[in-house]
Amino acid sequence: MNDPQTIIGRLAPSPTGAQHLGNARTYLIAWLMARSHQGTLFLRMEDIDSPRVKPWAAQQAIDDLKWLGLDWDGEVLVQTERFCLYHQALEELKKQELVYPCTCTRSEVLQAASAPHEDGREPVYPGTCSHRQAADANNIQGKPFCWRFRLPPREPDFHDGFHGFIPGRYREQSGDFVIWRMGDTAGQSVPAYQLAVVVDDAAQGINQVVRGDDLIPSTPRQLLLYKSLGLAAPGYFHVPLIVGEDGRRLAKRHGDTRISTLREQGVSAEKILGLLAWSCGWLPTMEPITAGELLSFFDLKTIPRRPFVLGKEHFQSIGYTC
Ligand code: GLU
Ligand code: ZN
Repeated sequence: MNDPQTIIGRLAPSPTGAQHLGNARTYLIAWLMARSHQGTLFLRMEDIDSPRVKPWAAQQAIDDLKWLGLDWDGEVLVQTERFCLYHQALEELKKQELVYPCTCTRSEVLQAASAPHEDGREPVYPGTCSHRQAADANNIQGKPFCWRFRLPPREPDFHDGFHGFIPGRYREQSGDFVIWRMGDTAGQSVPAYQLAVVVDDAAQGINQVVRGDDLIPSTPRQLLLYKSLGLAAPGYFHVPLIVGEDGRRLAKRHGDTRISTLREQGVSAEKILGLLAWSCGWLPTMEPITAGELLSFFDLKTIPRRPFVLGKEHFQSIGYTC
């Protein structure tokens, strides 16, 4: 008989702002997925997004998780302490000529992009600098540049543990993506999310990634990086987000859904977990419950595929007027 593989998952907050109810729902699912199988769960602070990172947000994310009763194993891994590893990966990709230096500014990419883009989506890179080789970086003088990964004609399909088959996209719908960002005025250049997340998931032995389904378009790119770096990819579970009544992702206009605010307002963690558990179909009503108690109710299959629409009645149910 085969022993099922021990699950190694992770919680990966970005300290670019406060964690809100939507983040909490994803973390709760990730925690239950690991803990209901006696798996390991790591906490990784994804703090490389330097201009957007807030100095208070990492500690607050830790406080939020602890308060919700979501624990993790071992030390917190901090991405800004791991640049050396990301550099090694970049060098490996350069050696294979899979990346090239790109000097295009954001406005140049926007101007050249062929289609209008939904909010929050990055523009499609038209390939302006793709004729370059990695070594051409030595001849670029006085201009900042980023490193882009050369996409093959088709991005890989993958099987999502929650949504099922996700087809890879063709080049027209995507574009060569940034794996190392352009230096800022101080010349500080940092790895991009796509590279750092792959290097770290692999280094930590993560075999189960649970994250919001807004990241589905990133997964084929990450799979390409795994393959190029000779690393084993994890299984993916992309879970639906919480949206406001207008159908858009949670934002300030939907009311203050920050976990820290709810905590300060005296809402209990159990009430929040009860609301989230009900939204996932694990409880028939929004009764207060602890994370530990939820272990016996958790079922991935009852989670609706559509985003959960958070309305005023839900705030009321947890005794909070925003
Ligand atoms: N740090 C990312 C976020 O908070 C999650 C990245 C991931 O799970 O791959 O949106
Ligand atoms: Zn370019």
